[in-house]
Amino acid sequence: MTFSSTLPALFIGHGSPMNALEDNAFTRGWRDVAARIEKPRAILCVSAHWTTRGTYVSGAASPETIHDFYGFPQPLFDVRYPAPGNAALARQIAQSVKSTPVQIDPTYGLDHGSWSVLRVMYPDADIPTLQLSIDVTKPGEFHYRVGQELVSLRDEGVLVIGSGNIVHNLREFDFRNPTPGAWAIRADTLVRDKILANDHAPLARWHELGADVARAVPTPEHYLPLLYVLGMQRDGDSLRIFNETVQSAISMTSVQIG
Ligand code: ZN
Repeated sequence: MTFSSTLPALFIGHGSPMNALEDNAFTRGWRDVAARIEKPRAILCVSAHWTTRGTYVSGAASPETIHDFYGFPQPLFDVRYPAPGNAALARQIAQSVKSTPVQIDPTYGLDHGSWSVLRVMYPDADIPTLQLSIDVTKPGEFHYRVGQELVSLRDEGVLVIGSGNIVHNLREFDFRNPTPGAWAIRADTLVRDKILANDHAPLARWHELGADVARAVPTPEHYLPLLYVLGMQRDGDSLRIFNETVQSAISMTSVQIG
């Protein structure tokens, strides 16, 4: 398959599901990045909200919109993102990954880690969209390697989006006061600086990066999508950080590679 240009790989800090309905600085950043790049032929989203034992790729022809949250306003539950799937691409992705078996899940749809961002980036929902699950039992290097094995998707018109948050501590998150914790800013900055220095090995071993990062990543699922995206970086790729903001105990910092 040929595609006229090489696509970037994106890590998107998704934050609250309400971003799907809002027009704010973050969603403008998402819209802006979609406008900057060629419209993809397909999208593969590594969402923090699909965690599994083993690695799966979604193969549904018409993925359902999954409303995997509680306590939000009804309009958020009314959102549908009817992007088609692509079973052939799911098979190709499963075969491309050599370091671990990838199974096809014929039923999984699109969770809010995907659609809250994609509804903003590609509101027409006309691009076939798949998800790759995150095996949370595996170490950082595992996720980085799977990203490396998928790098050729960038040449085939497949936009890979890791959707999570570098700093994500819901227990310490204060809805009434967005003032960021000093520790949260330090953790976000430390990770950002290593990304900008192409210093990936320590990022795959984030649990050795000190107390601030440990507090930023109390559970790994929102951090791990970043490693897939970093694994897709090639020599000479440009790097752009955007939406660099920490709100309370969540950072929206996002990364465009290439
Ligand atoms: Zn989330």
